[in-house]
Amino acid sequence: MGHAGFTTRQVHGARVRSAEPRATPIYLTAGFRFESFDDAAALFGGADGFAYTRVGNPTVDQVERTLADLEGGTRALLVASGQAATTIALLSLVSAGGHILASTHIYEGTRGLLRDNLERFGIEVDFVDDIDDPRAWEAGIRPHTRALFAESISNAAGRVLDIAEVAAVGRRHGIALVVDSTFATPYLLRPIEHGADVVVHSASKFLAGHGSVLGGVIVDSGRFDPVSAAGRYPHLVTRGRDGRPSAVERAGGDARIAYARDDLAPRFGPTPSPLNAFLIGQGLETLSLRVERQSATALRVARWLAAQPGVERVDHPGLPEHPSHRLARRYLLDGAGSVFTVTLAGEDGVAAARRFIEALALITHMTHLGDVRSLALHPASTSHAHLTDAERAAVGVHPGTVRLSIGIEDVDDLIADLAGALSAAETGRVDAGQVAAGRAAAEPVPA
Ligand SMILES: *Cc1c(COP(=O)(O)O)cnc(C)c1O
Repeated sequence: MGHAGFTTRQVHGARVRSAEPRATPIYLTAGFRFESFDDAAALFGGADGFAYTRVGNPTVDQVERTLADLEGGTRALLVASGQAATTIALLSLVSAGGHILASTHIYEGTRGLLRDNLERFGIEVDFVDDIDDPRAWEAGIRPHTRALFAESISNAAGRVLDIAEVAAVGRRHGIALVVDSTFATPYLLRPIEHGADVVVHSASKFLAGHGSVLGGVIVDSGRFDPVSAAGRYPHLVTRGRDGRPSAVERAGGDARIAYARDDLAPRFGPTPSPLNAFLIGQGLETLSLRVERQSATALRVARWLAAQPGVERVDHPGLPEHPSHRLARRYLLDGAGSVFTVTLAGEDGVAAARRFIEALALITHMTHLGDVRSLALHPASTSHAHLTDAERAAVGVHPGTVRLSIGIEDVDDLIADLAGALSAAETGRVDAGQVAAGRAAAEPVPA
């Protein structure tokens, strides 16, 4: 390029020299140079390799393979958000005229997707309230049911799913069980080991862990059975318009995730940024350390809160009085997670929750969870505001309920902040000393 003009040389630059970096490189590029004329045609025909970042990218691919391994699945697909992961996972199973049977105890964004968006596309949805009873799942199955959907640990009140029982119901009918395992993370629980077919996560939460990026992931068990499933999932077993091999012919037991990767994600287009994928991958490197600490601290905080006079109830599956405690002891041997709810005592729960949240100094008032920093939210006036009182009560959200997501801070600092907030909730007065202590812990020491 020695003879080229300045602008030509500036835009083409020098060629990248390849080397094997120890940290995952960020391939922040829309596309990849084809090696040859035939290579281009082969990649468009489905050959393994990289052509365009919407279809595949080495940074994204590294994170996908790590997640598939940690989750105990065969393959993973990273997408731009948790909502995109749930959407793509369900659309890989259900078509117009199909039916989804979902747990009542789910993230509100998912409930909206099911009730508003998918219903408009001709997909019917029913909800199971008593998710602990396999007969309730069995009774909800209809001839056109194509997916069972539930959370391993539910938002917000921590109901634990009996994955093995619900997966067995699905298996008897040849219907896939999709588990949103955002609250558990693969460190605490791997639903595929208990019979789930597909796992989704909001990677924005614990996987990335630092509250800086959004992402979502779908992980497949690789156990798609074309014989028992042929009538239910024709889009996976029949050839394409142009005679293109079916997902089963291309990927066998991985047909579901192959269809999601090849036929859904590149068309609907929720592509993750390679930079976000890098940050999720970096988060994964410390997942067990964070989640172990966060779970242990959350249990201590939950026990402390449950003993305070201003508290009506604490819904944490690690506490013996929680309805899912028995299942938590079976499924969550390394900790019951770090997101739970505390319901304040008193006649006017909303007023108490307002005083409590406004008095928090260290814990951030924010709608997010799984962050290294502790966070608080009042679900009844925010995430769950559009539900009726009865619907809110059914998912454990009362006027005085506050959802906490416990981070990695020192437990004594968190308890001091919560003590200050509780006394403000009870007396209506903010204890200036407590707030100062919380602020001091929250702010960096000046140099
Ligand atoms: C946050 C969350 C989602 C949605 O994920 P986004 O990354 O925010 O799109 C889905 N399920 C659960 C359980 C969540 O907590």
